[in-house]
Amino acid sequence: FNYQQVSFLTSAPDITALPADTGIEVAFAGRSNAGKSSALNTLTRQNSLARISKTPGRTQLINTFTLAENKRLIDLPGYGFAKVPLAVKEKWQKSLSEYLEKRQSLKGIVVLMDIRHPLKDLDQQLIFWAVQSNLPVLILLTKSDKLGPGARNKIVLEVREAAMAFMGDVRVQAFSSLNKFGLAEFEQVLDEWFNS
Ligand code: GDP
Repeated sequence: FNYQQVSFLTSAPDITALPADTGIEVAFAGRSNAGKSSALNTLTRQNSLARISKTPGRTQLINTFTLAENKRLIDLPGYGFAKVPLAVKEKWQKSLSEYLEKRQSLKGIVVLMDIRHPLKDLDQQLIFWAVQSNLPVLILLTKSDKLGPGARNKIVLEVREAAMAFMGDVRVQAFSSLNKFGLAEFEQVLDEWFNS
C-alpha cells in the first residue's frame, strides 16, 4: 500500500461531522506529545501532514486524510492534558467510545504511547473500548530511539504481557520516527487492515 499517496480530506469538530461511513478507515490516537503527528508524517513521507506540537488545551479537530478511493486515516485529537476541564474530558470520552462502537468503516486503531511512559489510564481506557467493540489495536511504542536495544526489548515484552489482559487483538510494536525503527512492521499491520 502506498501511504505516500495521501491528501487532506476534512477537519471535523466532532465525530458527527466525519466523512460518510463507507469504505475503510484506520484511526490514530494517543496522549498529547506521544508522537502521533510525527508517526503520521513518517508513515506518509510528508513533512507536515499532521502539524507537530499543537497548542495544549486548544480545541482540537479530528483531521481526516484520504489514501485511496474510500481508504482513510483518521487523526483523533490528543488526550491527557491536565488543564482540560472535566466536562470537556467527559464529552471527549463519550464521543470517542461512541465512534469506536458505531463506526462501520473503522477497521483498526493505532494507539501511540511514548515507550518510556506506556499504558497510562486513558490509553488503557481507550484499548478497553476498542476491544469491547471487537476492533484490532496496534500499540505503537514511539520514540524508541531514546532507549538502547536491551531496554527497548524489555519494555516491548512487558507491554505485550500487559496487553494480553485486554483479551483482544492487541499488538505491540516499538517505533521511531527519528530512525524509522519498526516502520515496516507498522505498515504491515495497516496493510492488513486496509485489505480486510
Ligand atoms: P503528538 O502531540 O502526539 O502529535 O506528538 P508530536 O509528533 O508532535 O511529537 C511530540 C514531540 O516528540 C516532538 O518534540 C517530537 O519532535 C518528538 N518526537 C516524536 N517522535 C519522535 C521520535 O521517534 N523520536 C524522538 N527522539 N522524538 C520524537
